[in-house]
Amino acid sequence: MKITSPIFRWTGVCSWLAVLHLSGILFTEAGEDSSTRWWKGNLHTHSHWSDGDDYPEMIADWFEKHGYQFLAFSEHNVIAEGKRWTPVAGTKGGADAYEKYIHRFGPRWVESKIQDKQLMVRLRTLDEFRHLFERPNQFLLIRGEEITDSFEGAPVHMNATNLKNLIPAQGGNNIVEVMQNNIQAMLDQEKAIGRPILPHINHPNFGWALTAEDMLQVRGEDFFEVYNGHPAVRNFGDLHHASTERMWDIMLTRRLGHLGMPIMYGLATDDSHDYHQTGLGHSNLGRGWIMVRSGNRHLTPENVVNSIKKGDFYASSGVELEDIQRKEKKWIITIQSRYEDETFTVRFIGTRKGYPQESKPVLDEMGNALPVTRIYPPEVGKVLLTTKGWKAVYPIQGDEIYIRAVVTSSRKKTNPYARGEFEQAWIQPIIPE
Ligand SMILES: [Zn+2]
Ligand SMILES: [Zn+2]
Repeated sequence: MKITSPIFRWTGVCSWLAVLHLSGILFTEAGEDSSTRWWKGNLHTHSHWSDGDDYPEMIADWFEKHGYQFLAFSEHNVIAEGKRWTPVAGTKGGADAYEKYIHRFGPRWVESKIQDKQLMVRLRTLDEFRHLFERPNQFLLIRGEEITDSFEGAPVHMNATNLKNLIPAQGGNNIVEVMQNNIQAMLDQEKAIGRPILPHINHPNFGWALTAEDMLQVRGEDFFEVYNGHPAVRNFGDLHHASTERMWDIMLTRRLGHLGMPIMYGLATDDSHDYHQTGLGHSNLGRGWIMVRSGNRHLTPENVVNSIKKGDFYASSGVELEDIQRKEKKWIITIQSRYEDETFTVRFIGTRKGYPQESKPVLDEMGNALPVTRIYPPEVGKVLLTTKGWKAVYPIQGDEIYIRAVVTSSRKKTNPYARGEFEQAWIQPIIPE
């Protein structure tokens, strides 16, 4: 039985909130307040502008109606702008998607024509359709791009959230250079346009393209997808390939323990392409998201991106939290208990100072080293504590290089990306001192 499902949650007390009631009109004016709220959002979405099978308005409509506060479209090497006419039969969603589109938005919104005996439709730009969905401080659409690059056939995909101008794939002489060049293009644009852009590395195990060692050395890149809802991305790895969570621990240990680099943060996203068929094997929406905490009520792309950059968010594939708090030597995680029969397991994971530093390559059956993430000792990314229940407290010892936490629900995920998946939440790493 469902007990509560609060989507938009306020905690804390406003330091001041002025309510002016003038001439029958209610004005609410909140200034700097100490309240915090969680914004739910997805940063990785495809539509007919690239290889998704639906119109962007249909997709935005779903997110707006399903408790999200923000959504970024991230098409492959394209931004939804400019005039784009396309034959309906040539779109990925075909006549079926067009019928639904007309039915939902009506013939006055849908722009179509017959040309050379073909039914053509014009894809609406983000700036045209955003007003249909955006509401101040309640729902926001953010411009993004999935910079879709590669190196010798290996896919190197990186999202740029809140960019202004298209960034073409930059290429490079090796896989790290490809990532670094694309990051540099994002940093350059960020500087040029004067607003924050969030770079993140997508689905490292897609095409087994990226290793932990590749990703950890990229400068200016502090975000990656620990969970991606696309069925081809192999979040959990396999016999020879590290899972994305294992990669996370290796990256954190090396970056923080040796290289003097910042924390790498983990995101969850949908990477949705399929909007008409649902189930295993389809890349559907609603599978992975982030919850961004903000002490500022203004839901703007800048506030969303800046909170993420500060690490003030968690990633989820179903579990939602009440709060994450650090009180002196205690790290406290409080989970939303939504169902009477639901239980939670919380694993606190980290690496302690002085861990054994050697690593070895993964070998194939012939004894040859494979070009994959290396094997590190079990002290790297060790489970430091496991607790049960809706409240978990970790006593910080002080010798941890970092600590992160993962909550796993006893509930199996509805429409999982892979069979047997449970609902989870990934809490961002902290550094003890
Ligand atoms: Zn991709
Ligand atoms: Zn994608």
